[in-house]
Amino acid sequence: MEKKQFQAESKRLLEMMVNSIYSQKEVFLRELISNASDAIDKIYYKALTDENLRFESESYYIKVEPDKESRTLKIIDTGIGMTKEELESNLGVIAKSGSLAFKKENEIKDGYDIIGQFGVGFYAAFMVADVVTVISKAQGSEAAFKWESEGTDGYSIEPTTKETVGTEITLKIKENTEDENYDEYLDSYQLKSIIKKYSDFIRYPIKMEIESSRPKEGNENEWEEYTEEQTINSMVPIWRKNKSELTDEDYEKFYMEKHYGFDKPLKHIHISVDGTIRYNAILYIPEKIPFDYYSKEYEKGLELYSNGVLIMNKCSDLLPDYFSFVKGMVDSEDLSLNISREILQHDRGLKLIAKNISKKIKSELLSLLKNNREKYDEFFKSFGRQLKFGVYSDFGSNKDLLQDLLMFYSSKEKKMITLDEYISRMPEDQKYIYYASGESVERIDKLPQTELVAEKGYEILYFTDDIDEFAIKMLMNYKEKEFKSVSSGDLGIEADENDNSNDEIQQENKELFDAMKEFLSGKVKDVRASKRLKSHPVCLTADGEVTIEMEKVLNMMPD
Ligand code: ADP
Ligand code: MG
Repeated sequence: MEKKQFQAESKRLLEMMVNSIYSQKEVFLRELISNASDAIDKIYYKALTDENLRFESESYYIKVEPDKESRTLKIIDTGIGMTKEELESNLGVIAKSGSLAFKKENEIKDGYDIIGQFGVGFYAAFMVADVVTVISKAQGSEAAFKWESEGTDGYSIEPTTKETVGTEITLKIKENTEDENYDEYLDSYQLKSIIKKYSDFIRYPIKMEIESSRPKEGNENEWEEYTEEQTINSMVPIWRKNKSELTDEDYEKFYMEKHYGFDKPLKHIHISVDGTIRYNAILYIPEKIPFDYYSKEYEKGLELYSNGVLIMNKCSDLLPDYFSFVKGMVDSEDLSLNISREILQHDRGLKLIAKNISKKIKSELLSLLKNNREKYDEFFKSFGRQLKFGVYSDFGSNKDLLQDLLMFYSSKEKKMITLDEYISRMPEDQKYIYYASGESVERIDKLPQTELVAEKGYEILYFTDDIDEFAIKMLMNYKEKEFKSVSSGDLGIEADENDNSNDEIQQENKELFDAMKEFLSGKVKDVRASKRLKSHPVCLTADGEVTIEMEKVLNMMPD
């Protein structure tokens, strides 16, 4: 028997890995199952390209076998197997993954992060096992070999016998500690739920013996224990199916199954892209605001799968903050099973997917706006505020994406309208998009500042949300029309520009105005006669960048 040391850098990596890379120990199973699935993929590929080989789908599967007595967990596959050399080079040196060698050239061309390809998945086994034994027989070889390691010390390789081609990995599961219950990795029900959670959509069946009980035949009052082999995973993911095969109910079922929300989704979006980067996605716009949406606990993000294997529960890089309410998942065969969030953040493919997704969400919302106004109103009531925050943040750089989705209450229509609807109704002589800010529609209705604009027959947008005016300041204009507060000094309405009767009144009453100004000193800049009032004796106006309403909001903010 040969005993070999891991290479020095492998040793350090292995220690690091076992202790820190994975936040949850249970993912070891995902890693081993995905390796098994890769191995079957490889034999499948060979069978497809070599006419001497036949791929009989029944004979390819993954089997998970826990045994409480011996404290072992086996993961068995009928994949391509490994030769002695492959066992050494694939499992003996961390960061020298066989799959990487296979893909390397393309990866460099695509600008992928090479670190993302580190072969460290296998070593996750040491998070839960004291000893890992790999028995493997490579396709086309008569000999089988046994690789064994207790972790950081090194590994041994010796010849062994194995009838069929494939790999059998045995984990000697650790004893429970105070902080960690390792027993669950020997319990078929726990294992079943881990498999369901992470590997449900692996293409090959993952089988396991499950204990159950049933009424005895002939005697219904007595129960008997029995075991039966079950296929745990559902194998064909809904997102790989054709849209035309699926009904609204299917999408709703998936939404519930995944616990994306407790409501019914308002809308689903199914994306299948076969371009530079291939991916499938199913996204949902919830009907109701998630109960924790405005709390600190709320985390945006989509589930991320790499070729059917779940690699992250909430990938936040896939969604911008203004679409943080969107739920769902993305699966891409062009993403590697990366090991950490940090690495994923720099992935170019992921960035591309994120960008496409944002565009798609926008266009779907626009089509909802056009084709189902009632639903869009409902949506906007729930999440419009988030869109306005989106316009406001990043110095308005999201404005092209978001401005068409905004709605405000209209003085004329007495309901929410879009900026485009406003513009399309503007009389020719109207220069600006007018708005008035206030606490509520009722209060704005009574604002003296609105009188002149309303008298001219111009529509006024009511800003009742504290974010409204800030967002609009970032937009600056919409389709070349500037926004104008009804309380700004210059309203751009001709009547009050060409008429200088105000000056006369101002002169005649100079003493009165001066006295008022002195009385209000420090509170107002000036007291002037105005033409804009009809039924009200007085109103406040603002000339600066910040309007009265914005000042109120700013004053309320904590320092
Ligand atoms: P990765 O999967 O990212 O390449 P891993 O550490 O998970 O890295 O696995 C290292 C390598 O070991 C794989 O690339 C593969 O060549 C080999 N390997 C692991 N498990 C199996 C298996 N069940 N069957 C065949 N080869 C395997
Ligand atoms: Mg792997």
